[in-house]
Parts: sequence; C-alpha cells; structure tokens
Amino acid sequence: MTRVQISGVGKRYPGRGKGAAEVVAVDDVSIDIASGEIHAIIGYSGAGKSTMLRLINGLERVSSGSILVGDSDIATMGERELRRERTEIGMIFQHFNLFRSKTVAQNVAYPLVVAGVATAERRERVAELLSFVGLGDKARAFPEQLSGGQKQRVGIARALATNPGVLLADEATSALDPETSQEVLALLKKVNADLGITIILITHEMEVVRSIAHRVTVMDGGKAVEQGDVFDVFASPKTETTRRFVATALPTQPDPEHLRRLQQKHRGKLVSVTFRDGGVDQPVVFRTLAERGIGVNIVHGGVTEVGGRSFGKLTLELIGDELQVEHGIAALGQQTDLEVLV
Ligand code: ADP
Repeated sequence: MTRVQISGVGKRYPGRGKGAAEVVAVDDVSIDIASGEIHAIIGYSGAGKSTMLRLINGLERVSSGSILVGDSDIATMGERELRRERTEIGMIFQHFNLFRSKTVAQNVAYPLVVAGVATAERRERVAELLSFVGLGDKARAFPEQLSGGQKQRVGIARALATNPGVLLADEATSALDPETSQEVLALLKKVNADLGITIILITHEMEVVRSIAHRVTVMDGGKAVEQGDVFDVFASPKTETTRRFVATALPTQPDPEHLRRLQQKHRGKLVSVTFRDGGVDQPVVFRTLAERGIGVNIVHGGVTEVGGRSFGKLTLELIGDELQVEHGIAALGQQTDLEVLV
C-alpha cells in the first residue's frame, strides 16, 4: 500500500533557440494520492500530464517541490537509489512498449531478470501474472500475434512483475477501441481492488476518468486547476476546461446549436433537470408534473454512473397550460436542480 504525495512540484525547460523564453511545463502542482486510490490526471495536449508522469517515475528531475512515493522522495534521490525505487513503480504505455523479438513470457519476465530473480521463481511468477491478466495460454506467443487489448494485458503483467506499490498508466487505453478499452480498464480496476495497488493514470479521455477513477486532477497550462472526488467534479465542474471534459463523458445539456434544433421541433417549455445519488428521485419529478396535468417529453440526456454513483441530466419538454407549467417549474425548482433553457 503506497501513498504518493506531490507537493508544490514545478518543472521548467530551457526555451528552444537563443533568447527563447523558458517553458513552464508543470507549475506548482500538489496532489495527495491515498494508498489504494485510482487517481486520474486529465488535461488537453500540452497541459503537462506526461511531464508530471516522468517526474513521478524519476525519469526527469523536478525544478522545485517534492514527490514522496511511500517514504522516499523521488525528487532528491540519487540515481542508484532511484533505480531500486523504480521496482516500486510499475508503468504501462499507450503503445504498450513490448519487446517484439521476445515471447509474452519473456516480456513479463524481463523486469525479474533485471532484478536478478532466480529462474525457477521467475517461471512461477510469470505463470501467476499471465493467469492474473487472463493470458495463461499465450506464454509462447509473440506480441505481433496478439490483439491490442492482449498486448496491454502483457504490459500490465510486466508492470506488476516486481510487486510495485504504484502503477503509472500513460494514456493506457488511447490506442484501443472503446470495447477493448473497457476490458483493459476493468483489469486495472481488478489490479487496484485485488492487489491494493495505487494507480495514477494520465489521460485526455473523460470516459476513462468516469469509468475507473476515484479522484481526479484536471491540469491546464501546467497547473492543477481542479481536484477532487470524481463524482463531485463531474456533478459541479468549476472551470471551463473541466466543464468541456465533463460534457464529453456525460449526457448533459444540449449545446446552443442542438438547443436551437430542439426548439424548432418542440413547442413546449424546455428545462434541464439534474439527477444525482442522494438527490430527488425521477419518480418524484414525473409525479409532480403529472399531478399538475403537465405532459413530459424527454428530448435529450440520460443517466450514467460516476464513481459508482448515478448521475445525469435530462432535458424535458413540458407541455400544458402556461400557468400550470410555470407552477410545475416552481415546484420542481424547490426539489431539484432545474434550469429553464427556453
Ligand atoms: P501533455 O502530456 O499534457 O500533452 P507535456 O507534459 O508533454 O503535456 O508538455 C507540457 C509543456 O511542456 C508543453 O508546452 C511542451 O511543449 C513542454 N515540454 C515538454 N517536454 C519538454 C522538453 N523536454 N523540452 C521543452 N519543452 C517541453
């Protein structure tokens, strides 16, 4: 069980070319990741995610701040200590980074060979790892004979070989189709739940965050602009960047163009209602409207699961006498998050 404490971390690169300004890739970022947590760092291209990951595994050195992995400060560690510490930190990659000329078993065994583990123990461990990731029958296959999802399973088995406390995932599902992505994410969930491994993943896909993360940090321009439990961040995003990400993974309110089209088709009042765990139930909303003789059309949206809790937004067309509809809206407004769109 390993906690990762990132405190006030900055990374500057010299500008490219003479007189070019310094690049601040990571700017005063602090993230406290509890042991056993799945933490997602999300941001658009250039936000500083990859740099952050390279700083956590010690491939690059911080310009300021500290990074504690367990009790060890990665930021100030010597090279030799760092090499030892890296067996504590497993990593998987977008393009899997497998050795093409080695079999699946040899790929998984590689970190154990480097660590000087004896042959018999290595064999046993590789068999156990392959069975854990569901590739017990592929030990002798070569990477090119595998599908993308299977390759990432090999990557995960290899990353787990030295029993790390932390697993770093660098856009681990970005090269996979949606269905295979979900399978790999399910395996990462199992790694976290069964082995108690802390997982830090960087991604530009909010769907990945929604499916498996417990907590999330949103990065923008090198800064951590938003941070918290995934459900809270999804339910009430505070920055425009986060709102844009949330919109990609949730059935939310229609955008202005979509709203214009809905208006042309639907003559009634359009309202958006938010549903969340612990909030008002859908039956209550529909009963409130029905009791006032208001007809309802669901014209957009849906409900999904975020951080294991249900959340959603529905856009409703309310049909009926104008005064009745006004009263219905007032009644609902007291019970739930309701926004009148048009
Ligand atoms: P992301 O992974 O979110 O796309 P990066 O961490 O790759 O973002 O990059 C953050 C910023 O730092 C970008 O402006 C990028 O150009 C810059 N950067 C990254 N690595 C280097 C480097 N080795 N030298 C100079 N600038 C870099």
